[in-house]
Amino acid sequence: MTELKPTIGLEIHAHLKTRAKMFCSCKNSATESEPNKNVCPVCLGHPGALPTINEQGVKKVVEAGRALNCKIADFSRFDRKNYFYPDLAKGYQISQLKHPLCKSGYLKINEKEIRINRIHLEEDTGSLIHNDKSLVDFNRSGVPLMELVTEPDISSGKEARQFAEELRLILRYLDVSDADMEKGQMRVEVNISLAEEGSDLGTKVEIKNLNSFKVVEQAVEYEIKRQAAILKKGKGVVQETRGWNEKKQKTVSQRAKEEAHDYRYFPEPDLPPLDLNEAPLKKEEITLRSELPQNRRERFKKEYGIEKELFITDKSLGNYFEKVISEGLNWLKNKKSRVDKKEKEELVSLCCNYILSDLQGLLEGDSIEGENFKITPENFAELIVLIHTEEISSKIAKKVLKEMFETGGDPSQIIKEKDLKQVKDEGKLEKIIEEVIKENEEAAEDLKSGKKEAKQYLIGQVMAKTRGKADPEAVNKIISRKFN
Ligand code: ZN
Ligand code: MN
Repeated sequence: MTELKPTIGLEIHAHLKTRAKMFCSCKNSATESEPNKNVCPVCLGHPGALPTINEQGVKKVVEAGRALNCKIADFSRFDRKNYFYPDLAKGYQISQLKHPLCKSGYLKINEKEIRINRIHLEEDTGSLIHNDKSLVDFNRSGVPLMELVTEPDISSGKEARQFAEELRLILRYLDVSDADMEKGQMRVEVNISLAEEGSDLGTKVEIKNLNSFKVVEQAVEYEIKRQAAILKKGKGVVQETRGWNEKKQKTVSQRAKEEAHDYRYFPEPDLPPLDLNEAPLKKEEITLRSELPQNRRERFKKEYGIEKELFITDKSLGNYFEKVISEGLNWLKNKKSRVDKKEKEELVSLCCNYILSDLQGLLEGDSIEGENFKITPENFAELIVLIHTEEISSKIAKKVLKEMFETGGDPSQIIKEKDLKQVKDEGKLEKIIEEVIKENEEAAEDLKSGKKEAKQYLIGQVMAKTRGKADPEAVNKIISRKFN
């Protein structure tokens, strides 16, 4: 048997971040905890209630389509997808079948183009809560959803995960969706089949209820192994829907596919078709409102020579970094007229270190967007410049940063108040060193007789005496001079 090749496609639903629901003016709120609060006759599916189109929802899907290199339709319309379920009061979902808003796009993952078949707009259903009774909450009913379907271009669990993660990032950059999988704002379904290279595609298995990116990867990897084992025994894979069992760390059968569902789609008679060449939905006027993550990756590499993924995945942190750099350059230019390339590189490298390591440590997993974050980019930049110009040591800088983090204070103010400025003055240092030598006669004797480790000890004593403020290089130089 030749190598079995997995063929994987994704179907991803994401809640659109709109003020109102898709076809009524009820609030679209992901955080509403009171059941059935944001409801009206339209989203409760009362007979005769008429839907209207939320333009913001259409625009967000078009924007997502642009970001994903899709062809935007000239003409689009809604269709009814008929089926019965207790969370679907109307007995049909308003969706799009024949005329989706976006078609034929792609998203590059590791230089490979994963083609996107379509992105269409639809509404979500209510949600069911099963306790001893089953309850229906219609807050989610009518919330706008984009549904994205890829071509079967994905070939591993990792690739499936990366696609979903990059998509989430794009949707967040554009403010199209918060796309939080844990909150059900983004739902990923996987279609997967295995077959020998060059032969027809194998039997397709659908995996649903994947509630995190990690689980997407795990479920795909598990399914590749499971199907391969069946095929290697010469048996056939059953066409079915499976779900992920977190406890058992495997996919389990949920239901076998009887026949293809017949949803009896037909054009939605209560809504007008959409003309995307005319106001108010003229497609030329629906443009990207933000730089895309991949463009930012490339720009950061070109402009600053860095590849730091945290500045990409945390957009606000990336913005903060850029502000700190530009303020930092201003500070430096004020101190001296010209800043050369090497100095800029040093500044960038200091910023990366202090933002990505020290600051992250202080934040303990919080975002700088939180209201407790007090350090302005100006103050952060000033701190970086003080380190760069060696007015304070890195050890002192950490103290100052901690103080800034706690109080939002100005670094030069903190340094002044706490008397933390680096001591470089040779006269002052000489005095302190002489004191240290007097207090540590033994070590001084050792150094005289050639024991090198005694020198480190003496430097340490000077640092301690100055509470870390002495310039260690200058101290080293003076001590060497004294003992040679
Ligand atoms: Zn409503
Ligand atoms: Mn759907």
